[in-house]
Amino acid sequence: MPGDAEQPTLTIVKDATCLGCGCLCDDIVLSVGDNRIVETYRACDIGSRWFLAPAPRDLTEATLGGKPVSREAAIMEAARILTESQRPIVLGLSGSSIEAQAAAVALADRLGATIDPAHSPGAAPGVAAVQRVGKVGATLGEVRNRADVVVFWGVDPVRTHPRHFERYSVDPIGRFVPHGRAGRVLLVADSSPTGTSSRADQFLEICPDRQFETLRVLRALAKGIDLDDAVVSSATGIDPGALRGWFETLSRARYGAFFYGASLGEGRAGAATIQEALELVRDLNARTRFVALTLGHPGNPSGAEAVLTWQAGSPLSVDFSRGYPRFLPAEASGESRLGRGEADAALIVGERPEGLSSRALEHLGTIPRVVIAPDATSLDPPATVGLAAARTGIEAGGTVMRSDGVSLPLRPALASPWPSERAWLEALLNELGD
Ligand code: SF4
Repeated sequence: MPGDAEQPTLTIVKDATCLGCGCLCDDIVLSVGDNRIVETYRACDIGSRWFLAPAPRDLTEATLGGKPVSREAAIMEAARILTESQRPIVLGLSGSSIEAQAAAVALADRLGATIDPAHSPGAAPGVAAVQRVGKVGATLGEVRNRADVVVFWGVDPVRTHPRHFERYSVDPIGRFVPHGRAGRVLLVADSSPTGTSSRADQFLEICPDRQFETLRVLRALAKGIDLDDAVVSSATGIDPGALRGWFETLSRARYGAFFYGASLGEGRAGAATIQEALELVRDLNARTRFVALTLGHPGNPSGAEAVLTWQAGSPLSVDFSRGYPRFLPAEASGESRLGRGEADAALIVGERPEGLSSRALEHLGTIPRVVIAPDATSLDPPATVGLAAARTGIEAGGTVMRSDGVSLPLRPALASPWPSERAWLEALLNELGD
């Protein structure tokens, strides 16, 4: 056939892991030709876009102030900047492999640096709530096999986690849920109708600013406390009959799963609202079995929190400046260190820090920045030292962690001319010596 000679030979990569959302689907099949992903199978639209995104083009491997240099010269300069710094800070990491995250923590320890993952601002209220009251958790596999009542509170997985229903929570046939969707009751609470609420058996329209009060009423019902309807109505803005109906469904569960997201901690009560949700789930365990889970975020933020907890005792905002790790959530966040002008050099790995104030960003722009990322050598303004890295999950392997604590291998489909984030971090550690 004319033109056949130009067709690339296609290879198939099975069970690739998608980092496009917190589902971390590990059943994706990729068709690869000419070192390019040509097609994805089983991935949703978000996942397909993640896999098919083109690599940054026309890069050089390493730059100083935007000018190409050798790998060795760049590593020497990065090591000089970080060792001469009095208050270095390590940022990013939320999309990196666990192996790269571990190397970054070792580097922060060696430098006496502060380390704070990119997703820290959104995660901090949830971390505080879990530290205060604990969490009755489970794996998504357990939810799939056992849950007959599933709650989505203030989250819309149909939009943000498109395969969550299919893989984990609503549709699958589970060991103790043999009828799949028909054997489950789906409850959704949100401030307005969503794609997820359109699939719900019961939808509770909640006031975003009164979620704490609404959860507190559900807790009171769980404890068998008599409530005045007028007080319930004025505190929650919800018909007390609707709340009681919801509670009846919760308490009839054989096994319930309560999914929530970071938005629960964004209201005026902050971490206290997440705490209230975790305590509701704990209270429900006096009547039945109930577990609480987050939906998770794209990339590998759960891995970053696990590695920091494993190596430094705390999941976020760790300060090594005294030679040992200290958890200083108010002082050692990226926002605090940069916003107060305390950091004098930054190492940014992969993800850019999220939610920084303009003041923090302004300070970050004034200090030397060593950036390890796929686009590190093409930034505008350029990084002080740019080190181009292979894309995690697509060109670089390793391990990631789902939001339920299950570790998953990455199966990179493509080759990259550049080292992985882990390789760059280990080269920096070698340069620093003992
Ligand atoms: S649901 Fe999430 S992890 Fe799964 S394919 Fe879609 S974007 Fe990727």
